Amino acid sequence: MSDSVIRIVSIYPSLLGTYGDGGNVLALSHRARMHGLTTEVAEISPGQAVPRHGDLYVLGGGEDTAQVAAADALRADRGLAQAISNGASLLAICAGYQLIGEEFPDATGTPSPGVGILDIRTDRLPKRAVGELLATPSPNAPAKLTEPLTGYENHAGATHLGPDALPLAQVESGVGNGDVSEGAISGRVVGTYLHGPCLARNPQLADLLLGWVLDRDLEPLVEREVEELRAERLDYVRRSGR
Ligand code: GLN
Repeated sequence: MSDSVIRIVSIYPSLLGTYGDGGNVLALSHRARMHGLTTEVAEISPGQAVPRHGDLYVLGGGEDTAQVAAADALRADRGLAQAISNGASLLAICAGYQLIGEEFPDATGTPSPGVGILDIRTDRLPKRAVGELLATPSPNAPAKLTEPLTGYENHAGATHLGPDALPLAQVESGVGNGDVSEGAISGRVVGTYLHGPCLARNPQLADLLLGWVLDRDLEPLVEREVEELRAERLDYVRRSGR
């Protein structure tokens, strides 16, 4: 990182921002403030160039058609892929997760090319996954992730990881990637099916991303309201068997 301000780039929130995923950017700025850090957020619209020198890029979920448009624009722009190969970090949710892979189905089910940042391929689940998703960080996930990951999923895609991507978590309840794994991680890139918004519900993940930018681990700061929300969701999912 070149200076003391963490440069967050929110990519195409007008196309990709279902289920409050824009809240991930707010959660990052909020957690950064708690740690005494300053953030600067650039919101990029389709047609605008994606900055090459951001520190942390965020992609949300979206409908199939918006997802194809976002993938096409990002492939043509090349800025995101360039920033990631220069060491920037990336959080990608649901449609955003699928589209940073090699391919994903469009609205008709036909494979559509992704941006090729993550070694994953997405096709269709037998049945759309809708509901709470609870998953335990995988043994290969960064050691800083110790708490269950909680969120909401709504997707028709099944995601298959290639050898260069490792599962982020193992599903305890819900569907995730469709094979009992959930999400993927590779270098400083995290993809997940967790809406919520994900980082408001999983502050360890927000701190992991911020720590990557700073090249150091952040103190584990606990917020009572967030812990209460997490406890309520975990309890609901475990009791209802969802
Ligand atoms: N369109 C994708 C799917 O249904 C992603 C949906 C989403 O982002 N919520 O699989």
